[in-house]
Amino acid sequence: MNTHWLSMDKDPMGRAIYDYFKTGRAGKLRVFSSQFDEDELPVVDLFRTFDQMPLLEQTALHLAHGRILDVGAGSGCHSCALKDLGKESLAIDISPWSVEVMQRRGLNAHLTNVFDERFTGQFDTILMLMNGSGIIGKLKNMPVFLTRIKQLLAPGGCVLMDSSDLRYLYEDEDGSYVIDLAADYYGEVDFQMQYGKIKGDSFDWLYIDFDTLSAYASQYGFVVEKVKEGMHYDYLARLSLK
Ligand code: SAH
Repeated sequence: MNTHWLSMDKDPMGRAIYDYFKTGRAGKLRVFSSQFDEDELPVVDLFRTFDQMPLLEQTALHLAHGRILDVGAGSGCHSCALKDLGKESLAIDISPWSVEVMQRRGLNAHLTNVFDERFTGQFDTILMLMNGSGIIGKLKNMPVFLTRIKQLLAPGGCVLMDSSDLRYLYEDEDGSYVIDLAADYYGEVDFQMQYGKIKGDSFDWLYIDFDTLSAYASQYGFVVEKVKEGMHYDYLARLSLK
């Protein structure tokens, strides 16, 4: 498992966040993937306010309590919204430009990889939002991930994470699914981003369906609940320790 953070010259999304924060505008943040056509991530969306957030995210923010860890916090949109709700959080990210922005926004933010065991703490709520399961990268990393969050959770604590079931990509017109069971798990994708001339390295990103998440997490002693379903195969899950 990679436990490093990004270098400043290979952090396209962070640089876009920085530009948007400084000037109120940013260029095109391009997203490449071997599974999908080229796409664009509107940088303004990374600065969404509570009212602009999808219901799944709003629900997670309402449920968050106690010592809150915002993992992969980006521009800090969730931590800012939590502040407005009178809740404090620690925001971590591997993007140096994003962390710089979060600190300038007055947030408690650190340049930290959640998998780096030198980072310690006991949190009542660990938030992972905007397909938060992505950070896990591959299904084979589930054991490392689940062990890691156990270390970071206070007794009675929970993880609130959103994800999507990508099975709709494989849906036939008659509603049946053609999924090759011998192939890699269908929620494993790769992405690469580019902002102007800044191109990041390609990275693995995991979308996980609720049943698969449940099966893994329950083996590690978690109680797994689907808190809410979204509009399009997406859901918010809560993982808590028995
Ligand atoms: N939560 C934010 C940003 C989502 S994008 C939002 O909803 O707008 C995912 C973020 O996770 C990026 O900022 C990326 O730099 C960060 N990230 C990826 N891997 C990480 C890791 N291992 N530890 C901490 N942050 C990570």
